[in-house]
Amino acid sequence: MNMIDPFGRTISYLRVSVTDRCDFRCTYCMAEDMAFLPKKDLLSLEELDRLCTVFIEKGVKRLRLTGGEPLVRKNIMHLVRQLSRHLDSGALEELTLTTNGSQLSRFAAELADCGVKRINVSLDTLDADKFHAITRWGHLGKVMTGIDAAQAAGLKVKLNAVALKDFNDAELPEMMRWAHGRGMDLTVIETMPMGEIDADRTDQYLPLSLLRASLERQFTLTDIPFKTGGPARYVQVAETGGKLGFITPMTHNFCESCNRVRLTCTGTLYMCLGQEDAADLRTPLRASEGNELVADAIDEAIGRKPKGHDFIIDRRTSRPSVSRHMSVTGG
Ligand code: SAM
Repeated sequence: MNMIDPFGRTISYLRVSVTDRCDFRCTYCMAEDMAFLPKKDLLSLEELDRLCTVFIEKGVKRLRLTGGEPLVRKNIMHLVRQLSRHLDSGALEELTLTTNGSQLSRFAAELADCGVKRINVSLDTLDADKFHAITRWGHLGKVMTGIDAAQAAGLKVKLNAVALKDFNDAELPEMMRWAHGRGMDLTVIETMPMGEIDADRTDQYLPLSLLRASLERQFTLTDIPFKTGGPARYVQVAETGGKLGFITPMTHNFCESCNRVRLTCTGTLYMCLGQEDAADLRTPLRASEGNELVADAIDEAIGRKPKGHDFIIDRRTSRPSVSRHMSVTGG
């Protein structure tokens, strides 16, 4: 039953974007006047549950809900509660989510009650004005209250920060000290050329090799084999006692160890974050009450999972590598 792609990689990790909508408009992620999907195009929560269940039956062990902002999807906790039965049965090892934190104070306790153990919170700055500028619509105080609520509920929180030149590069050492001081690991991410945005990505792009070299002037970083199932490579920071992760899709692609596929809220399966090719799972899902058609469509899609992405950010390449925004497939 296991899903093995043409390059021998076993697919055991599913990321599910439950909505393309978000209550923030981060400048590197979206344009300000984004057009979102009409509600009628979305799979129902029951259909998303059915699709996830087929993937779990086919060997998915880790499932991450993302978006858009997953916690703004109406009744999202119903889906989380439903999916948690696969944790209880042991079929699923981990159910988690990536969130901007804005709704966490409402949902943290229930997430923990559903068996979610750890979550990723995206946070690019600790400065309230800069936070408002980068997210356009977000308020730092709300996210901080959300992080407090998550920790109080016993959720392990990891912070994700997109490293942005001349925006947060100088602040990242302080963010790392703050995160580690509160028992949270921090992962920094290179910005990826996905979708048209209002800004020029060449101005924003910061290769993490440069960030690492600069951090090494202040901190002792030791490579460690620690893994959380995703693409981050970690170092231990001697001075803070915490871990720092690097996600480097631009400077060092990690495709050879890719174990992931991504499902969107319309039932479209992307076999690679950085390629346009996709498979429609909604049609086979709706064509039959049984799961055979959709299972066959998944096998066919896994059979054409590409070797990897080829993201480029430079002055000569003005178009994004893929036309869809990150908010379609989630982080
Ligand atoms: N709303 C949730 C959140 O904020 O985490 C989940 C979706 S968001 C698209 C997932 C992650 O993708 C966030 O950490 C965000 O910063 C990151 N992201 C968005 N656009 C990106 C880009 N072009 N390159 C790299 N990371 C990006």
